[in-house]
Amino acid sequence: MPDRVVVIGAGLSGLAVAYELARRGTDVTVLEASNRPGGRAYTLREPFTDGLYAEAGAMTLTPHCHYAMHYLRELGVELETADLVGSQFSYFVGNRFFGPDADSLDRAGLPLAPHEKGLSVADMIDRYVRRAYEALEPDITAADWAPTPLLEPYDRRSVYEVLSGRGASPAAIDLVEPHFLEMRGGDLKTASALSWLRHESSPHSLANADPRWSKVKGGTDRFPRAFAERLKDRIRYRAPVVRVAQDDEGARVTFLDGTRMRSVDADRVVVTVPFSAIRHIDFTDAGLSDAKQAVMRRVKYSSIVRVYLQMRRRFWAQDNASFSTDLPVRWVRDATPRLPGPRKILECLITGWRARALAVLSPEERIRFALEHVESMLPGAREHFETGTSVVWDQQPYIEGAYILPEVGHSSLMPAMRRPEGRIHFAGDHTSFEPNGGSMTLALESAARTVLELGSTANT
Ligand SMILES: Cc1cc2nc3c(=O)[nH]c(=O)nc-3n(C[C@H](O)[C@H](O)[C@H](O)COP(=O)(O)OP(=O)(O)OC[C@H]3O[C@@H](n4cnc5c(N)ncnc54)[C@H](O)[C@@H]3O)c2cc1C
Repeated sequence: MPDRVVVIGAGLSGLAVAYELARRGTDVTVLEASNRPGGRAYTLREPFTDGLYAEAGAMTLTPHCHYAMHYLRELGVELETADLVGSQFSYFVGNRFFGPDADSLDRAGLPLAPHEKGLSVADMIDRYVRRAYEALEPDITAADWAPTPLLEPYDRRSVYEVLSGRGASPAAIDLVEPHFLEMRGGDLKTASALSWLRHESSPHSLANADPRWSKVKGGTDRFPRAFAERLKDRIRYRAPVVRVAQDDEGARVTFLDGTRMRSVDADRVVVTVPFSAIRHIDFTDAGLSDAKQAVMRRVKYSSIVRVYLQMRRRFWAQDNASFSTDLPVRWVRDATPRLPGPRKILECLITGWRARALAVLSPEERIRFALEHVESMLPGAREHFETGTSVVWDQQPYIEGAYILPEVGHSSLMPAMRRPEGRIHFAGDHTSFEPNGGSMTLALESAARTVLELGSTANT
């Protein structure tokens, strides 16, 4: 193990790297640009009343999130049932509500293809998604990202092309979309079908996940805070890193300390900064390979805006409501189905180009925008509204995106994404094995891989 390591970023990946190194006796410092640990594991507790809170970023875990489960157990962080368990999922399309079962779809009079009549949304996922990846097994589930000849064509095709190539009508694609990419801010026409099918075939997909979903009791931010408590003053907040340099002797990391610039020397540096915000760091004297610089520039992050509306009480009929809509507000759900008290938070999720449009509005305008759409679906919203807030992930300082969106051709970027460059190592969910969308467990997987990498370096 190296003697001295600087970790850039106190998101879950940086915290886990630092925690493991500290346990092994390494002198480790975490430099974090913001004033809190957690990055995209971020719980909003204001401006809500009655102790209500909502998740700005990560919220759900499946039993297959092995790395997350390991650390949650080790740090004594409790879990509870996820909001999504028992939610009543329905559609609001063309100004009417309908369910995902075959009878409801039939009554909704959607322009489905003749061969889709009588199918439920689950049947469509089976036909268009499950059968697509089953035909690619075992290659699609192999623990190797290099595409085999069987998989290679899928990295050149978009999700939309594969779905329509399998006979899905545009109306059917709209129905299945919320079950995968839409909730992750994706754009079906540019997203890599290979990355998508890898995710869909995994135990993390919505269709395959073990239904015992959970979330961190009391808010996701308790998870990074538990790490931060163990690391104490090894973390330095409000310390944005602006430059990383290296030579044969060592590495040097420069950061802002108020109005001053300070530098620290290290044997090794771990960069966990999402590539959406990497341009704030100057690597001119870091000797990065062309491939690394190219991938830093090229990789795309999805745009997500979440708007939270606190309501005086539940004024809609459905318990634990969750609606996919054809409005710019793509998904509306009860974000507090299990919190006590009459008050509720309705969350509106806006993704892709619509999210980028909303980012331009002021916080007040964003709330008005969401409220107007929710009123058109659920009359009474305006009357019951008390307070609200929003999170624009593209504008979150030093994150500037929700999570990686693998586009067509993504496979060629993968090898360079995580490769160490001399003394500089790369962690973060984007460097995990198959980062389709983000996930806490993928961030932690990347931390474990980085600690192994550091362990195999000489003490230099
Ligand atoms: C809307 C949304 C929903 C999600 N839902 C889920 C979910 O349900 N389940 C799940 O498991 N995951 C979910 N995720 C993904 C999960 O939050 C992330 O994958 C994970 O938290 C990423 O951790 P990380 O350490 O890789 O990066 P981050 O959490 O982004 O941490 C990076 C840190 O680096 C800091 N930083 C950046 N630049 C600098 C700099 N120059 N100097 C110093 N510090 C810097 C940042 O401030 C940040 O704290 C969601 C994410 C979003 C955005």
